Formats: sequence, C-alpha cells, structure tokens
Amino acid sequence: KNTENQMLVIFGASGDLTARKLVPALFNLYLDKQLPENFIVLGASRTNMTDAEFRNKVVLESSYLQEKFKDLKEDHKATFANRFFYEDLGGDYDTDYYTLKKRIEALNDAEGTEGNIMYYLSTPPTLYETIAKNLAAAGLNTQNNGWKRMIVEKPFGYDLETAKKLNKGLQNYFKESQIYRIDHYLGKETVQNLLVTRFANSIFEPLWNRNYINHVEITNAESVGVEKRGGYYDSSGALRDMFQNHLLQIVSLIVMEPPIGDHPEEIRNEKVKALKSLRIMKDDKTIHDHTIRAQYMGSNIDGKSIKGYREEDGVAKDSLTETYAAIKFFVDNWRWKDVPFYVRTAKRMPTKVTEVVIHFKSPHHQIFQDSGMQSKDNKLIIRIQPDEGILVKFGVKVPGQGFKVERANLDFYYSSLAETHVMEAYERLLLDAMQGDATLYARADEVEAAWEFVNPILDYWKNGTDVRMYGYASGVWGPVNADELIDGIGMWRNPGPN
Ligand code: NAP
Repeated sequence: KNTENQMLVIFGASGDLTARKLVPALFNLYLDKQLPENFIVLGASRTNMTDAEFRNKVVLESSYLQEKFKDLKEDHKATFANRFFYEDLGGDYDTDYYTLKKRIEALNDAEGTEGNIMYYLSTPPTLYETIAKNLAAAGLNTQNNGWKRMIVEKPFGYDLETAKKLNKGLQNYFKESQIYRIDHYLGKETVQNLLVTRFANSIFEPLWNRNYINHVEITNAESVGVEKRGGYYDSSGALRDMFQNHLLQIVSLIVMEPPIGDHPEEIRNEKVKALKSLRIMKDDKTIHDHTIRAQYMGSNIDGKSIKGYREEDGVAKDSLTETYAAIKFFVDNWRWKDVPFYVRTAKRMPTKVTEVVIHFKSPHHQIFQDSGMQSKDNKLIIRIQPDEGILVKFGVKVPGQGFKVERANLDFYYSSLAETHVMEAYERLLLDAMQGDATLYARADEVEAAWEFVNPILDYWKNGTDVRMYGYASGVWGPVNADELIDGIGMWRNPGPN
C-alpha cells in the first residue's frame, strides 16, 4: 500500500504515551523503511521545549530506544531525530492555534509533506473536543489541500452518554471518516488472526454456530495490580478499562457474520451488527445473576507481601471499583441463539494471559467409554498473548486394549514463524492510519454499541440493591463465587502453559 508524504502532529507530546509507545513504533517503521520519503513529527503541548530538547527527550536520550540503538551500524539515530520538531502551544490547549498553524505551514513547505496531516490526540480525553474545535477554528481540518486525519486514544467516554457526547463533539469538527479511534488490542496479530482463522479456512466456519459450539470463554488476566495508575484505575475499573473496549472488540470478531469483502467499512459494519446483537441485560435480577465483580486483597506470595487493591496509592479506602469482572451473556441472532459467552478480565491473577476458548459440543452419540467427559471435548484455543498461537484439542485413542480416549493437541505458535517480524500493535496501527486504512480502528457506532451493552451493568453496580463485591487473594483465579456463573455448563479454563 502507498504511504503518502505526511506530517504527524502529536498533541500531548510531552507525555508518557508519546515517548513509550508512539516514537518507538515510528522508529521501527523507520528501520523497516515504511515511512514515506517526506515524513516529520511535530510535537505540541504546553511544556516549553525547543526542537532539540524534544529530540533529546523522545529520541536521542529516550530510555525506550536505547536498546534498539545498540546494534545499529549507520547513524540512524540522528537521521531519525532530525524529523522531529516541537511547538509550545503557548498557554493552554483551548487557545487560538494561529502560531501552530503558521508552524505547520512553514514545516509543510520546507519538508514537502504535501498538506497531509495526521493529528494524534495523546492528551487527557477531556481535551479531545477542545483540540478538535480549535483545529477547526484555524481551518486545520479542511481537506482542500491534503488530507487531515485524527487518531484518538481511549477511553472513548466514561459511559454511553459521555461516549455519545465525545463522538458528537469530534464530529462537529471532523468527519467520521477522518476520525481513527485506536484500540491497541486490534493491532495484535492474533486478534487480526481471528478473522483469518474464521474466514480463510473452510474447516472452522461450518462449525462456528450454535449447532456445534457449546459455549465461548474469553479470559484476560494480568498478573500485576494497578501499579502506579491507582488514581486513574479507581475511577475506571475492569469493566471500563478492559471489557468495554478490548474484550468486546474480540467478542465482535468471534460473533460477526462473514463480511462480503475486506473493505474496512464492510468489516466494521459486521462488527457493529455483532455488538448490536449482544443481549442487553435490562433487569437487575439478570445482571445480578450474570455478573461477578471483585477486588484483589492483600496476600503474601513467596514471602513477599502484596498490597490489597484498597491499600494501593490513589485508591479510596472504601472503593467499590472492581479489579475483577466476569460476565455471562447471550447473543440474540440466528447463529448464536442460546450459546452462552463467559468473559472475564482481572488483575493480580496467577499469570498474564489473554485467550479465547471455543468449547465444542460433545459428539451427540457416545460410543467410547469416557469420551463424553466435558474435559475431553474439542476445544479451539486462540492464544492472544503471550505465546501467541492456536491450539486444537481433540480426542485420540490411548494405545492398548479397548477404546480409551485421551486428549491431544494440534498446535501452532507464531514464534515458529521466526523469520517474520511481528509488528507491534502501535506500529501496525499507525501505519494503517497513515495509509488511510481504518479497518482496525473503532467506528463511532461500534463504540456506542459496546457502551449500550455495558451501561446497564455499570448502572446496576453503582446504584442497584444487593450488589455483591467479592474479594480474592492476589495470585489466585478470582473469587470462588465466579464458578457459580459457569456452573452447569463447565468450569473456567484456568490456563497453565497449555
Ligand atoms: P499523560 O502523560 O498524562 O498526558 C500527556 C500530556 O497531556 C501531558 O504530558 C501534558 O502535556 C498534557 N496535558 C494537558 N492537560 C493535562 C492535564 N490536565 N493533566 C495531565 N496532562 C495534561 O498521558 P499519556 O499517558 O501520554 O496518555 C495520553 C492519552 O493516551 C491519554 O488519553 C490516555 O488515556 C491514553 N492512553 C495512554 C496509555 C499509556 O500507556 N500511557 C494507554 C492507553 C491509553 P503538557 O503539560 O506539556 O501540555
């Protein structure tokens, strides 16, 4: 695909995301020769910095790049750093962008970026609309002379109402086709591979429905706690931070119907339809029975004492923010009727893992002894991280007399494609946006459909009566009560190595 000459203008360029993720991703693209001939970065924020100081901070002296610099033969460092410029907004983000505009125009003329501008909003989200408004006021949103695109970072709203407000606020100044909402989970190879597994093979899709699938289980586990983000996390929680965005994106790829082609809008249309088909839990009883929330408690692991969630810095002592959420739900459409989905996400789990498990039904007539045991049923496990890969579990005969059935694995690991450079999420997503491909970005209606599903749960957890908050020791697979959710259908797969 063609990557046109362009300028990347980062708002909030003095922040963590720019140095930690964006610039290293750009550097990889630079080394891979994926950046266009004329490409520059203009950082913009309130901090006072010169171009040279900005180059030092995010490139030359950046701790996130030193490792990559080590083995370089040519002086890529300086060549890359020279593409970086900085403009102090002079006050606030809610100001007139006249000086910024002059700088953009001068750089565009000097560097030949042809009027193509990608704005990256890497500030707190409360500033997104303000920035869009001031860009528009300065005429920096018009596409008469080169395209203008805007990448925005999550969170996309705090609930349905604020998400709608944010969408509308941005759409007042930029067209939806100019807006790229980044969800770094969609930048992961294995998430994209969900589409390929389903739609580029003829062996899975015929089984991908209620006739053959018993239930679907998705786990996102982190072994760490809230780390230094206690303050932010306490106003967010597992449902907002992981489930509404990343996990429902994965759900939409599992649930969606085959798109008619690989055009971004065709894929996104199907994802929206999928999200709209999730059965919204309307009454308190359903939510009460189908959701579990919990917080990690202090414990002692290998002689090291671990703080409980409520003891973390920035977290309220009487906090009711969940660090564990498990949700059971159904999908109301032809394909998925009555197939339960179990999705959970949590911190302070025994291991870090994200995986999707498709549990197939038992053969409808059991011939062999033992073969009907649920643990022996076929499973397709899609490991999103770490050890990215796919595993099919199937029954084989145990050698010897009789027909005893044992479980064996057919597996594929991405690491075995050793010669392939697996692009990091931000690298892939930035390049897509630079090429105008929005397939892996969330559209406004997609974000709103996800909030439609999540909102009643958040409401109930906040205002409902008889809302339970469980505790679990750090380093275990969540509260025992979560087993009740899946009871009768199976048990959670608590992944070890396989
Ligand atoms: P950050 O470091 O907190 O903020 C980025 C910059 O925004 C700051 O350097 C600051 O620059 C400016 N800013 C303006 N008003 C501010 C205010 N009231 N408080 C703090 N900073 C303010 O954020 P970040 O970690 O780079 O993340 C940027 C965006 O990406 C956020 O929307 C965040 O939610 C999202 N995000 C970040 C990560 C991550 O890994 N860091 C992951 C997912 C999403 P000046 O003072 O120079 O103007």
